[in-house]
Formats: sequence, C-alpha cells, structure tokens
Amino acid sequence: MSTKRVFDFTEGDGEMRSLLGGKGANLAEMTRAGLPVPPGYTITTEACLHYFKRGDLMDDSLKCEIFEAMERLETQKGQRFGGPQNPLLVSVRSGSVTSMPGMMDTILNLGLNDETVQGLADTTGNARFAFDCYRRLIQMFGNVVFGIEHHYFENKLSMLLQKEEVNQEQQLSEEALRQLIEIYKECVIEQAGRPFPQDSRQQLLLAVEAVFKSWHNPRAKYYRKINHISDKQGTAVNIQSMVFGNTGKTSGTGVLFTRNPSTGANELFGEFLYNAQGEDVVAGIRTPLPIAQLEEGMPEVYEQLITAAKQLEQHFKDMQDIEFTVEQGKLYILQTRNGKRNAQAAVRLAVELVHEQVITKNEAIMRIEASHLDQLLHRGLDESKVQNVLAVGLAASPGASTGQLVFDTEQAVEWSKAGKKVILARPETTPEDIQGMLVSEGVFTSRGGLTSHAAVVARGMGRSCVCGCEAVRIDPVNKVMYAGSSVLSEGDWITLDGGTGRIIEGKVPLREAEMSRELEEILRWSDEVRDLRVLANADTPRDAAVARRLGAEGIGLCRTEHMFFSPARLPVVQRMILAESIDERKAALEKILPMQQSDFYELFKSMSGLPVTIRLLDPPLHEFLPNLDELHEQKLYVERQEQLAVLAEEKKALRAERQQISEMIQKVDALQEKNPMLGQRGCRVGIVYPEIYDMQIEAIFKAVSRCLDEGVDVIPELMIPLVGDVTELKVMRELVDRVALQVLGKEKIRYCPYKVGTMIEVPRAALTAKRIAAHADFFSFGTNDLTQMTFGYSRDDAEHKFLAHYLDHKILQHNPFQVLDTEGVGQLIELAVASGRSVKPRIKTGICGEHGGDLKSIFYCHEIGLDYVSCSPYRIPLARIAAAQAAIHYQKEKDITAAV
Ligand code: ADP
Ligand code: MG
Ligand code: MG
Repeated sequence: MSTKRVFDFTEGDGEMRSLLGGKGANLAEMTRAGLPVPPGYTITTEACLHYFKRGDLMDDSLKCEIFEAMERLETQKGQRFGGPQNPLLVSVRSGSVTSMPGMMDTILNLGLNDETVQGLADTTGNARFAFDCYRRLIQMFGNVVFGIEHHYFENKLSMLLQKEEVNQEQQLSEEALRQLIEIYKECVIEQAGRPFPQDSRQQLLLAVEAVFKSWHNPRAKYYRKINHISDKQGTAVNIQSMVFGNTGKTSGTGVLFTRNPSTGANELFGEFLYNAQGEDVVAGIRTPLPIAQLEEGMPEVYEQLITAAKQLEQHFKDMQDIEFTVEQGKLYILQTRNGKRNAQAAVRLAVELVHEQVITKNEAIMRIEASHLDQLLHRGLDESKVQNVLAVGLAASPGASTGQLVFDTEQAVEWSKAGKKVILARPETTPEDIQGMLVSEGVFTSRGGLTSHAAVVARGMGRSCVCGCEAVRIDPVNKVMYAGSSVLSEGDWITLDGGTGRIIEGKVPLREAEMSRELEEILRWSDEVRDLRVLANADTPRDAAVARRLGAEGIGLCRTEHMFFSPARLPVVQRMILAESIDERKAALEKILPMQQSDFYELFKSMSGLPVTIRLLDPPLHEFLPNLDELHEQKLYVERQEQLAVLAEEKKALRAERQQISEMIQKVDALQEKNPMLGQRGCRVGIVYPEIYDMQIEAIFKAVSRCLDEGVDVIPELMIPLVGDVTELKVMRELVDRVALQVLGKEKIRYCPYKVGTMIEVPRAALTAKRIAAHADFFSFGTNDLTQMTFGYSRDDAEHKFLAHYLDHKILQHNPFQVLDTEGVGQLIELAVASGRSVKPRIKTGICGEHGGDLKSIFYCHEIGLDYVSCSPYRIPLARIAAAQAAIHYQKEKDITAAV
C-alpha cells in the first residue's frame, strides 16, 4: 500500500472528513485558519480498514509513517517523544467520520514513564503536576488498552485518600501521588497480567491499535446500527501534542457552545473547571463553573475565547460545540463541531445567521428539518409538572393533550357534548371510532404501529396520538386500564404527549404552540423561493382558521362527509340514507341542507380571497350507519328485557323497540358491501342518488350567494370524487352547472366563476385523463386511493397484515401510503398531467392526502411540476419549507448541470 496514511494537521482540511474523520478534519481546518490548536497528526480511516483487512495487524510501513510524523512533531515542538528531558507528550484520540459518542475514551499524557516523568517535573518545575499526569496516563491506558475497568483504579484511589485523610485528589501531595503510581502499576499487573509499558513507542502503537479495535466494540456497533451508520467506514486516530489544564490556578479545561443550544440566543454557553484535565468537566467529580465566570477570573482568556468562538462560527457557518484547555493563561482549542440543538434553537439560529450575513436565506431554509417543525407547531407540556409517566408508546401524532379517560366513542361523544375534555383509549381503533377521535383531545392505543388506523387518522385530524403502547392493558368492556401498578378508570385525568409517546397520569398543564418571529421569517423566505402552492385539507371552519394562520393559500380538500359525523347531524343523515322513498330522502336532505350551507358559508368567509375546493360526498353510505354487531347486541339486550318485563305496557314498548332494531338491522345489512373501498361510493352515489349531490351543490351555491351579497371574496371549486370514466364527470358537471344557475341566476353567476374538477384516484381516470380533462378545470390526485388501487392494496388490510413485514424484509423501501411511490403511482400521475395539459395547457394539478405533507413526496411534486400540494393544517409550515427546499435543491442541480 503506497497511499499516504498519516497527515499532519497542517496537511489536511475540513473537506477530508471521510479520510481523517470529523475530529481530524476539523482540527486540520482550524490549524489552517490560524486558531490555537496544539500540533499533531491524523492516521486515516483507510489505515484502519487496512489494519482490519490484515487480520488486526499493523504493517511496518504504517508504523514508519507514524514515527516519521512523530519526528516532525518533535522538531516543531522542540521536544523528544520518550526523551528523558523535556519530553513530548501526546494524546491519542479516536475520530470517526460520523460522530459516535462512547466509542472509545481518549488517552492523555502518552509518552510518560518512570524516567520521562522526572523530565517533565524538571522542565516544569512542578513535580506534583508531573506525577498527576502520570497516574492519569496509567489509569487511562490500563482502561483503554488493557480493558481494566475504572473501578479497580478508583478503589485504590479512595483507599489512598482515606489513608492520607484528604477528600479530593487535588489535595494529594507529591509524595502521595508517587505512591499512587506504584499502586496503579501493581494494579495493571494484577488485572492485565502484564506491566504498564515503559517504552513510549510501544505505548503509542498499542494505543493506536486500541482505537482501531474500538470500532468493533459492542457499544459502537449498537450505536451504528440504530443510527444507520455504515460498518465499513472505520475510524481515524488523532495524535496530538498535549497542553495542560492541570498545572495550577491559571489553567483549566472547558466546553463551550457558541450560542445557547436550547434557545438559540446569541450568548456563550458552557462550563469551565480550574486546574483540571480532559474529561474532568463532564465526569462530575467537581462542579464546573458557568463559562461567564471566566470573565472575572481570566479576562484575557475570556476575550480570546469570544474571538475564537466568533471566528469558528464564521468559518464553519454554524453554531459550534467547542472543547478547549487553558494552560497557564493561554487558550488552546482542542475540538470543534456543529453543536446539537433543539427545534427552537435551530430556527432562531438559522435566521440570525442570515441577519449576521454568515449564511444565505437559501442555506438557512435548507437547514430546517421536518422534525423541528413537528416540535414547534404543536402544543407541548409544562415539563416541570410531569410526574408519573405511566408508559411510553410510539409517538404517532405530535402535540400534547390532556383530558378525562374514556374507552369508547359513545362516552367520548356524550362527555364532549357536556363540555368535558376527553382522551380516548382503545386497544386499537377502527373506522367506527372516527367520531370518537373527532371529539377527543387525543387518542392512544395499546396495539398498532405508526401506520395504524389511529395514527393515520389522528395525524390527519391534528389530534395527538400515542399508539402501540403495549405496556398498557386496555379493557374497554370494564372501562379500566392497567399500566404497571396503576389502575385508571373512566373519568380519570390523563395526559398524552404525541411528540414523545409518553402517557402521563393526571392533568399536566399544556404550553400552547407558538409561531416564533424567526419561524415566521423563515417561512416568508420559503414563500419567496417555492414554486408549489400550499393548500390545506380542512373540513371545518376551525381547521380552516388554523390553516390560514399557518399560511395556507386556500383549501385543497374539504371532505364534506366529516360534517355529517357530528352527533346532532348523524341521525338525520342516517334517516336520509335509510329512506324508503325518494320523498322521505328529500325530506331528510332538506334538514341537512341548511346545516351544510352554514358550514360552507363559514368556510368561505374564513378563506375569503382564496380558493376553497369542496369534494362532494365520497365514502360508502354504510359508514354513516350504526355498526351491525352493535345492533345485534342491542337487539339481544332488548329481547332479554322484554322477557323480564312484568307489566304488559312495558312489554309492548320493548317489543316495538325490538322490531325497530330488527328493521334497522335489515336495512343496514342490505347496504353492506363485500368490498366497500371498491363499491358504491364517490360519484357512483352521486349518480345513483342525484338528490344527495343536488342538495350539496345547492348548499354550496346558496352559501356562495350569501357571500356575494355580503361582499366576501369567494372562490368555490367543486370536486367530483372517484371518477373513472369521462361520462361520470360529464353528468356530474351538468348537475353542478344546472344547480348553480338555479341558485345564483344568470346575473350573479357572472361574478362567481366557479370551477369544477375531479379527483384522479382510479387508475383508469389517469389513463383516460385526456378525455376527462375536457370536462375538468383541475385534477386533484387523491394519492391515497390511487396508491390503493395501483398496488391493489386495501390500506387497512395492508397496514394491519403484511406491510410491516414487507418493510422489515425490504420488499418495499417505504410505506407507499406515507411516501408517494414515484416509480409506479408516479407514472400514472405524470401521464395524467401530461395528457391533461395536452388538451388544457393551464389545467390546475395538485395532490391532496397525507402525501401532501410528506417531505419526499413534496420534492417529487415539485420535480414533476404540479401546481400545488394540499395537506392537513398542521403540516402547512412543513410543506412551505419543503416546497422551498425542493425549489432550491433542483435549482442547484440545474446550475451544476449547466456548469458541466
Ligand atoms: P471525545 O471524542 O470523547 O470528546 P476527545 O478526543 O475530544 O474525546 O478528548 C476528550 C478530552 O480530552 C478533550 O475534550 C480534551 O479536554 C482532552 N484532550 C484531548 N487531547 C488533548 C490534548 N492534546 N491536550 C490536552 N487535552 C486534551
Ligand atoms: Mg470521551
Ligand atoms: Mg471531544
């Protein structure tokens, strides 16, 4: 192997991460930038991999390179490694490409032995310090290289402290430290069966090998596994000349964030410990001081530190997490990296760095992560009041919520009507629970994953949700739940945190989500660069108001059926569905009409000036009817009462009730379908029962009319669901036009250029999009159904049965219901867009459904040139940023291609 495997810090730079590791690359970069970094060199990750390839053997040429680099370091420092006078000491530090905490501990003071320790004592005139360094080396070396656990050394140390009658190691005398060294050397022999090596070159090689090998230790392997880091990277090793924070009162060591990592505030944040070395700061033996106190104790050093912090931030264009040491009043920087931060800090930092002209607006936008927004845009808990965490499940839908425990939809509805706040607990949820979820503050389940029904629905509705919480046993029959030793019953207060998956006993105060000034600002910048419009899926005026506040440019999908579920309306809706004659149906519809009309009116008002897309009724009708099993149960119950009844009067009433239930059972049974997803739903209902759509259309235009009268700027768009053949749309469009004219009249209709479009969610619609486009003003891709029908999956069945297995076994890369399948479903979308535009170049196109709030899917929508995405209100800020990120990303790609 002839490639160079050792680089001095002066030879490398920040770009060489994969070869020098993160720490090594940054040490080189800082050296180049003129920061006070003790000199040293880095052994590459390639050398490490080569070492593994040779069966954990170091070849002579590598050893040679290491010692040559050491000679250069000796010259630079004017010291000799292993030299009896003024010896050169080094640290040996691991440094993988991706930072991996806990991989290996650093060895400090390498090069000390019985002879050189005297040399160090002589040159520094501080024997106590020299022996302190030596005893630290023996312990660290014994631990890292020989695997001797720290407690063996620590036991010996405490015995000595006792014998010397002092509390802390700093109080040990020079003589005591000499003794300690002898004791430690004994300890090494006892535990490792070999002595601490006196030859400094041997120390160095053993230490380097130990770093290499630490790549394979179980902690490191586990860390890589859970963080998806490749096992094939290997680690670099940094050898660096020592600086000493333990020489006395004018020295010390510390860590520093250039800004506050939990608020983002522009202030130094960190800790410092006088007269200390290495990890003393974090080890918790002594309490470090807040960094600000350094200003009093060492004003000059503090000044240098501020300058260095600024310089590092400017250089790396980000907040830095710095490790530093002060030796006799002089500052040295030992490490820097981009600091970890929480969501709030991330946003503030990105914005302020733009104001400080360190990064561009586009760079700031690219730094925002989806998870940051999830944390910022939802209610949180007052953490100081969190006490009894009952269990932790899957964090399925962010946001915190608190309420009284209920175990079924009926109770949820009843209590919410009475003005109580409720939390719904279910073993798992089914479509019948939708109503209960709608009125609950939050939902949790003991079974089911992140794609379970509960999770999906809750995310769509913006309710907090914890699912798959297997540590909790939920017994809906007896209305109790068990969590560890706690037993909770209906009505008990409980709190959920959907962002972390915690289920907490009692009522924890909530903290409202807020849009910080910085977040508003970065969202405005995003709006300037994005091409995609961002609309909301909003069904109620309340949702619409939230959506507008979060920046929605209209409503892309209003699911009218959600208006049917409210407890006051459901019975009327059921009467409408179960009607035996058209007159009976019309009578029920007449009752529903004013309710829908007022919903639409409110919706239009809250979206004044922006388009509102209303989808006519979509789900199969039986979804509004009572559950068959429950009806049978009810019937049984009434039967039993009937048998027990004594009074004839009572018997008669019960018999009548039983008959009613029986009739209901018959009707509901008649409406059952073998496969509702592919059955009588969407425009198929509208075509067979035109009076239903008729009523909805009438309600829409009556609301429009009122808006026009009141000067509300209304832009209605009517959307026909589940079209598969052009004639379906043609017939429905005629209905819309007819009713619109009826309601608005010739005059008014001119002031309201409404649109009629269709969902493209049946593959045949995509395939025949050219013909459909002739009758459509817009295409809204219903990617949920389109995915179901393209894959031939029923979503519920897929997610309950085989999808998890498919993902585990990598049959599919992603859940196609979360991340749009660009390869298959995408082809249909692209085809439909192209053929639609071939007849109507300006036909509006977009997607609605969960995909509209997913980062990857949004990138795709941008790439294929859709006009908009529509997503649930709380995803809107994410969608705005994602759309901007997509625009920036593809612009960059274009620039690169143009340059080549
Ligand atoms: P980690 O990756 O665990 O942070 P480091 O290699 O950064 O380990 O070492 C930990 C600490 O050891 C550093 O923060 C620093 O305080 C100390 N240290 C490392 N090298 C030197 C050195 N050459 N001189 C003085 N202290 C050092
Ligand atoms: Mg460490
Ligand atoms: Mg470090």
